[in-house]
Amino acid sequence: MKDFKDDLEEVLDRASSAGITHIITVGIDIPSSLKALELANRYDFIYSSIGYHPHNAENTNFKRLEELSRLALEKKVVAWGEIGLDFFRKRSSPEKQIEVFEQQLDMASQFNLPIIVHNRDAHSEVLDILRKKGNKGRGGVIHCFSGDYDIAMAFIDMGYYISIPGTVTYKNAIKVQDVASRIPIDRILVETDAPFLAPVPKRGKRNEPLYVTHTAQKIAQLRDMDFEEFALKTSENAKRLFGFNRKKTSG
Ligand SMILES: [Zn+2]
Repeated sequence: MKDFKDDLEEVLDRASSAGITHIITVGIDIPSSLKALELANRYDFIYSSIGYHPHNAENTNFKRLEELSRLALEKKVVAWGEIGLDFFRKRSSPEKQIEVFEQQLDMASQFNLPIIVHNRDAHSEVLDILRKKGNKGRGGVIHCFSGDYDIAMAFIDMGYYISIPGTVTYKNAIKVQDVASRIPIDRILVETDAPFLAPVPKRGKRNEPLYVTHTAQKIAQLRDMDFEEFALKTSENAKRLFGFNRKKTSG
């Protein structure tokens, strides 16, 4: 995003000096998917996803989705997303969001890619759709998870991972703290959602990959775990889900 146009190199240096070994940068439409892939091709430790975010569902069509499927075979593309439903902002109509979500679930399965799911105020609809035609092959992650423990477990029971953002460090974030402290350790991921949702002590500032360490520290503390061990576990989870250097099938 343009928030990083002036100091991208420094941001990435800070992240890798702090021990961050893999970054996934996401696509939300065609131009951003192309940019994400271009970045991934420039840096060894960056990978990309491709997809149409529910906000942009209204702007897509069969031809544009076909264009994405050409990118799906690229070596550094490790996931299909962000896809999903956003009934909070409703920048696209719910009907169109559902249609584009379902089409992309089929495409992710076809290319054997895990999915990155964006879900805002649409927990039961997302659960229903994944139950009906979820990504059986590779599963995926519910990113920036905002539901409660029971909803988290419903996704986990279907084989999905839950990703916890910086909001877990906020004082009154009782629900996400409860989820982060109780879900199984082998199903939890951490993320920045940079440039958004910076964790304490950077709350309100631009978020960047380095700050995921604050998020991980907070969750380790909530779980009464050693930080190093928590970091290792969540890294293993990410590698299991995204299989960073695995060979692709041809779709
Ligand atoms: Zn999102």
